Amino acid sequence: MSNSYARELAAALQAVRDASLICQHVQSQIVLDSREKEDRSPVTIADFASQAAVCRVLGELFPADPIIAEEDAAFLRLPENTAFLNQVEAAVTATLGDVTSAEICEWIDRGGANAYSERFWTLDPIDGTKGFLRKEQYAVSLALIVNGQIEVGVLGCPNLTRSVGAVRGPGLLYSAVRGQGAEVRPITPSDAAAEPIHVSDCGDPRAARLCESVESGHSSHDDSAEISSRLGIAGKAVRLDSQAKYAVVAQGDADVYLRLPTRKDYRERIWDHAGGVILVEEAGGRVSDVDGRPLDFTRGRALEDNRGVVVTCANLHDVVLGTVREVLQNNATPA
Ligand code: AMP
Ligand code: MG
Repeated sequence: MSNSYARELAAALQAVRDASLICQHVQSQIVLDSREKEDRSPVTIADFASQAAVCRVLGELFPADPIIAEEDAAFLRLPENTAFLNQVEAAVTATLGDVTSAEICEWIDRGGANAYSERFWTLDPIDGTKGFLRKEQYAVSLALIVNGQIEVGVLGCPNLTRSVGAVRGPGLLYSAVRGQGAEVRPITPSDAAAEPIHVSDCGDPRAARLCESVESGHSSHDDSAEISSRLGIAGKAVRLDSQAKYAVVAQGDADVYLRLPTRKDYRERIWDHAGGVILVEEAGGRVSDVDGRPLDFTRGRALEDNRGVVVTCANLHDVVLGTVREVLQNNATPA
């Protein structure tokens, strides 16, 4: 019998909305001055608080489902980190009402699954931590994987708008269920109507709009500049942090997202992609690794059999992938 995943989608939307509101609250308290620039504590607090909020909802509604999430609570349980734990508790309480620090640790621990299983969730509580600290783009990414296939994905993009040009907006919540299309709605109010989203119909690489990581350590800017020039892409690449790049392609504001390996031994983490991949696929786009292989979510915490990612609207995948392969073969990735 086919499963419409209506309960899973409703739970994921609630979980990611709660987490996004917590992140917005913590971020609003960051003061961007030079002295605090190096202070990573706001993102650490928001990261744990976000994971707690998502795992709370999933644990209540789907107690049997394992969750492979990025964080674990060991750090918060250390006696020297009590002040941190109290700040995480305060961040969750400010948005969701009274909770205890013991509950917070218990919820975070629900995200401690490591191995592949027939049905599991994967969560990045804050993807794009550097973007979070810069008050630019970041994402809360949650996906349900069943028999190795992503079936449900919800991406909270608390600073995104419907236009990639604008740096910040009031925040959007994206969702997709396999075979049912992709949608976007505002993060608040919780009953806001959803609208369908689609990738662009761009078929001419010269007109393609490319996006990539801000961090050159996460995706080779040199290789993408060369690929872009070989394809005749006229515009400059738009750089933004996090899986917001998948959302921007899914809503037709960019046509290509390239993630080009910077190191031979790096393996992409499943939580950095699962939510974004189903969003783009259900919006009509295509995703593979740089060798043209589908991303394989059956290998545990990492995409062990894949290298990099090539994300495009429907029409550009073959031509972009061909050029990616040419360029990467010539510029063998440094070890
Ligand atoms: P982005 O915001 O797209 O640059 O991606 C942020 C994610 O990059 C983080 O969540 C990390 O898990 C991941 N990351 C860390 N190191 C690397 C690397 N060497 N190559 C690719 N991704 C990485
Ligand atoms: Mg991440």
